[in-house]
Amino acid sequence: MHTELVSEPGDPGRPNEDFASVALPASGQGGALVVLDGVTPPRSGTGCLHSVPWFTARLGGTLTELTVSLPDVPLAEALSRALAHTAAAHAETCDLSHPRTPQATVVLARWSPAAVEYLVLSDSALLVESPDGTVTALLDDRLARLPRAALATDALVDSTVRNKEGGFFTAAADPAVAARAVTGTLPRGEVRALAALTDGATRWVERFREGGWADCFTFVRKEGARALVDRVRALERAEAERGLPARGKRHDDATVIFAEL
Ligand SMILES: [Zn+2]
Repeated sequence: MHTELVSEPGDPGRPNEDFASVALPASGQGGALVVLDGVTPPRSGTGCLHSVPWFTARLGGTLTELTVSLPDVPLAEALSRALAHTAAAHAETCDLSHPRTPQATVVLARWSPAAVEYLVLSDSALLVESPDGTVTALLDDRLARLPRAALATDALVDSTVRNKEGGFFTAAADPAVAARAVTGTLPRGEVRALAALTDGATRWVERFREGGWADCFTFVRKEGARALVDRVRALERAEAERGLPARGKRHDDATVIFAEL
């Protein structure tokens, strides 16, 4: 077992809204990883007194506990319970029905001697390497499949596609969203290593086209998680120096977990 975890804010002057953890229970027989990417709210309010890092720390901390303390509870059920627990922590003070209530993308993986379970919700990525070196990207591509026009303004996103049927789903206040996640179970023998990345790191593939998912995995395996984030930052700076528009945030929080099982 070998793990590596790097998480870096997009702007050193702002809090990192990603959450990442790796848990190796005392049994020594398995483990779990949790990666969340908090959705940055616009200036126009969220109905919530709390910050995005407050939300991701609560949700991520609870998920870390539940995934290892309840190994027989499926990951979607663990996510549902963690969302209910987090919502209860501020239901009395905040309007949890607000479309911009704090929310996050989710990647979970849990491995035992028999199996590797996974859950992906929204646009973070989980890459799985088999013993023969084949890399499979486990993705929830609902957001990527939406027409650009549907994402033109924050107000349009809130009213038509955010956590709406036919749109895309994030982990916010409604535990039922867990049923929307991409989930599955792989035989343990088919998985040699895993990499979980938030979209600040998957830019290496999706925005800068440095290579495909398998190339990205190979880069992390050979050069390390830190090198991937450094490379993304260098590409972002080069884009800025060429005077190209940022297409969204110039720099985003970037998290990479690599786990060799
Ligand atoms: Zn709140």
